[in-house]
Amino acid sequence: MKIGVLNGDDIGHEVVPEAVKVLRAAAAATGVAIEWVPMPIGRQALDTLGTTLPADTLQRLEALDGWILGPIGHMTYPKRPEAINPHPILRKHFDLFANIRPAKSYPSLSSVHQGVDLVIVRENNEGFQPDRNVVAGSGEFRPTEEVTISVRVITRTGCAKVARAAFELARSRRKHLTAVHKDTVFKLGCGMFAEECRKLAVEYPDVAYDESMVDTFAMRLVMTPQRYDVVVTTNMFGDILSDEAAGLVGGLGLAPGLCAGPRHAMAQATHGSAPDIAGCGIANPYAMIMSGQMLLHWLGRRQQNPAAIEAATLIEAAMEQVIAQRRALTPDLGGSGSTSAMGDAVAEAATALAAERVPLQRTAR
Ligand code: NAD
Repeated sequence: MKIGVLNGDDIGHEVVPEAVKVLRAAAAATGVAIEWVPMPIGRQALDTLGTTLPADTLQRLEALDGWILGPIGHMTYPKRPEAINPHPILRKHFDLFANIRPAKSYPSLSSVHQGVDLVIVRENNEGFQPDRNVVAGSGEFRPTEEVTISVRVITRTGCAKVARAAFELARSRRKHLTAVHKDTVFKLGCGMFAEECRKLAVEYPDVAYDESMVDTFAMRLVMTPQRYDVVVTTNMFGDILSDEAAGLVGGLGLAPGLCAGPRHAMAQATHGSAPDIAGCGIANPYAMIMSGQMLLHWLGRRQQNPAAIEAATLIEAAMEQVIAQRRALTPDLGGSGSTSAMGDAVAEAATALAAERVPLQRTAR
């Protein structure tokens, strides 16, 4: 297996190495051979190679099975064409159309809700996101000083692809899928999304399918998130609702993510580059580690590699043990551990669990 390592910016340099550390430990314990391929991206690439997304990086990613991308701090990039935000380009270039974002609560962590275990599947390359919904230029324009127009792109193919990914995920979990939209107002855009979801619901009679208007869903998510299993929605709704879901279970440090496409997948946490805590050694590595875990699980399923699935399951069990025992947790989780101490604890737990041959529960991520 060839996996790329792209640190990104700010806390990316702290959390990505912890993800690699944990994946290495789990792979060693289960006999998965991984070749790690570090690559430049972001601010460091701009300073050394003159661009935030070197052509060589884009080209070499093609030959990999997947990669880990740290958060990108593009808000502070200089306003120059070579200082673009690279991750929308990667999502589009590799057709990483499904952004899979779990939110899970843990009894030993304080959170707004307990008993939450849901996954938001967000369409990743269309919608209102102006940096990826046009071939050139921007999906936003200002014809006069008084008027700004934002274009939202919805295609049947895009809706059907993300809906199928969500139905498949629901089938491997608690078999409940909720499609979130607002077709009462966006009759054509959300209407098309809903039509494609309904068509697929017929193909998945074993999955209980329902729909919710986005405003109602936002309220229900805050009040009773336990009622949801898998949720599928369009780009911008998914972006907002997945941060909301993260807030219900303990914050952005607990929000992993995977951008998946037909041939590649990219582990990418929901959080940004957190410049306010960069360099302090206190960033929570959970989101990045569990994004890497999702990548390993995705690759294991795709390549029919049971050892890789076992390695992913091992990481999940190790993380659960570390959290349950509150070992080396970072300050955002109420602990006093450092980023690397928490990474060490998860890697050591993975190695120890494998040695003890503790029966592992299959994960559905
Ligand atoms: P942010 O997610 O970086 O930070 C929001 C808050 O959450 C901050 O207080 C931060 O300290 C905290 N936080 C985030 N991740 C954490 C972690 N792992 N452990 C502990 N605390 C954590 O959002 P922001 O401050 O709005 O954006 C900072 C930069 O990141 C900007 O340049 C923004 O454009 C970029 N960004 C990138 C991505 C991405 O690469 N996927 C996503 C969102 C924002």
